[in-house]
Amino acid sequence: MTPLVGILGGGQLGRMLALAGIPMGLRFRFLESRPDCPAAAAGEVIVGRYDDHAALTRFADGLSTATYEFENVPAATARWLTEHVSVYPPEGVLAIAQDRIAEKSLFRDLDVGTPAFCAVDSREQLLAACERLGLPCVLKTRRLGYDGKGQWVLRSRADADALPRVGAGLIVEQFVGFRRELSIIAARSRTGEEAFFPLIQNTHRGGILRESIAPAPEVAPELQSRAEIVARRVLERTGYVGVLAIELFEMPDGSLLANEMAPRVHNSGHWTQDGADLSQFELHLRAILGWPLGADSSGRIRTRGASAMLNILRGDPDPSRALSLAGSRLHLYGKAPPSAGELRKIGHLNITANDAGELERRLCAARTALADLL
Ligand code: AMP
Repeated sequence: MTPLVGILGGGQLGRMLALAGIPMGLRFRFLESRPDCPAAAAGEVIVGRYDDHAALTRFADGLSTATYEFENVPAATARWLTEHVSVYPPEGVLAIAQDRIAEKSLFRDLDVGTPAFCAVDSREQLLAACERLGLPCVLKTRRLGYDGKGQWVLRSRADADALPRVGAGLIVEQFVGFRRELSIIAARSRTGEEAFFPLIQNTHRGGILRESIAPAPEVAPELQSRAEIVARRVLERTGYVGVLAIELFEMPDGSLLANEMAPRVHNSGHWTQDGADLSQFELHLRAILGWPLGADSSGRIRTRGASAMLNILRGDPDPSRALSLAGSRLHLYGKAPPSAGELRKIGHLNITANDAGELERRLCAARTALADLL
């Protein structure tokens, strides 16, 4: 029988999971509150909120397995679903990834470096944390932050005093002077098989990912191995199944600090659609279904030349303009264009090339030609 995969969330990640799974004979069902969501083009949408039991029941009926495209699914929903169908990644990982303190504590327990951090629940604790960690530091909400939302850089005591409200549920982190931001995307299958993509170099502005380059330039095999060890520790400690992304800071001394993890396919892995033997979306589906992961004998998914990904965050992209650029592939999510002044992920452009030099030339041309969309 054709396997039916249920996905909590019907955004672009759900859409791209389904687009990768349909050629392998899979069918998809999404639970999502908006019927006109990006994933609607690729499967059945059960319209409902995560706490709507009737909708959840209809969603779970007949599924082969379930997964998430969105990690902030309420714990009660994940628990209920787990009682009815196999759910991957396991519910326990979701709870860790939803709370920056739990996440950083896991890294610490696994002997994985992170920026120094403190939980903060009041203004007094914030001032004590700034004293202990030193300035500048970064104040973040423990839960539900994304794309730089719920984040404040504190450069002086006056910045801390000027915050209108400091309540429970915050984390303060040391502001680290990283050399660059990297991410590692890894997978573990139901069978225990593991696979890794090469390290990816990411550029953020205003807390939003703008660009990824893969394989990241100037990565010695030893750095790749260290990143894989970090990912492997998280995968094995948590009994993980599916694709996992870990965001890392590479420090000037070459050490790696873990910033956060995403228990799902990740924006920094979108280049794999066009630049690797198989995409992170296909890899996730293979992992949750217990199918072979397709890695080589060293556990790596093979890449094709050099790749980059540019997020499209504004405007109304004209496909013929984007596709006139050499080596480009356009992925639009079927979303309405952002309003003036708003930045929202509505698509991305993947650029592939034979080598890093050709990629750099193509990337420069794309940045200029599409400046109004990026
Ligand atoms: P996050 O939501 O934690 O991924 O943070 C968004 C972006 O803010 C990161 O990709 C970094 O560019 C920056 N950032 C976050 N935490 C720190 C930190 N502790 N030190 C320096 N920059 C940070």
